[in-house]
Amino acid sequence: MEAIYIKQPHQIEVINKEEPSTKENESLIRVLGCGVCGTDLKIFKGETLATYPLIPGHEIVGEIVKSKIFEKGTKVTIDPNRPCGVCQYCREGKIHLCENLNAVGVNRDGGFAEFLSVPNEQIYTLNENIQVKDAIFAEPLSCIIHGIDLSNFSYTDDIAITGGGAIGLIFAMLLNRFSVGKTVIFEISQEKIEFIKNEFRLEVEHPNNNRQSKKFDIVFECSGTVSGFETAYNLVKKVEKL
Ligand SMILES: [Zn+2]
Ligand SMILES: [Zn+2]
Repeated sequence: MEAIYIKQPHQIEVINKEEPSTKENESLIRVLGCGVCGTDLKIFKGETLATYPLIPGHEIVGEIVKSKIFEKGTKVTIDPNRPCGVCQYCREGKIHLCENLNAVGVNRDGGFAEFLSVPNEQIYTLNENIQVKDAIFAEPLSCIIHGIDLSNFSYTDDIAITGGGAIGLIFAMLLNRFSVGKTVIFEISQEKIEFIKNEFRLEVEHPNNNRQSKKFDIVFECSGTVSGFETAYNLVKKVEKL
């Protein structure tokens, strides 16, 4: 099969490789689509604790080829993260914070290939009618819904989002549906600001243009940058949530 292979940071190539073998509790999946995440870029640059050499890709939609529990041809997505079960966070039930996460596309081969094998407990079946290009968002969407749950937002809250990347945009789209308050994205790239205005018709501003120095009930930091955090801190009302 063909696969994208990162030998070590900054060394990427398309290779021909044998199809992966499956262990007792794993299924073989044919990849139908795989999203590109900011983490993939970090893996390429060596800025995250990945295990090299590696086939990256963790936002995966595929169909079952070989499995003991799923029917052949079933459309599936995966939860890439496998928690260790024994660290402090796992024992507190906060498995998403696990200190020893083993992730598909980060610590074991992922979805930028024709096939991959995945432990059965990390596989979720999809509605057959959902399109691959939509289902690819299952993993980032699950992170965003978790963030919204944690925020305990009220339907009248004014909400700011720092960072207009994929995560910030999905946050804004969902919150626009759920809240009658204002939802504003703060983004520093003029190019992205134009793109968001034209393609998504969402409210977006440069942080320097927050003219009335408006404050927000909730701020979601979605840029992952120090300057994004600084902006978020300046946007949130006293005693409210960041
Ligand atoms: Zn990701
Ligand atoms: Zn753990």
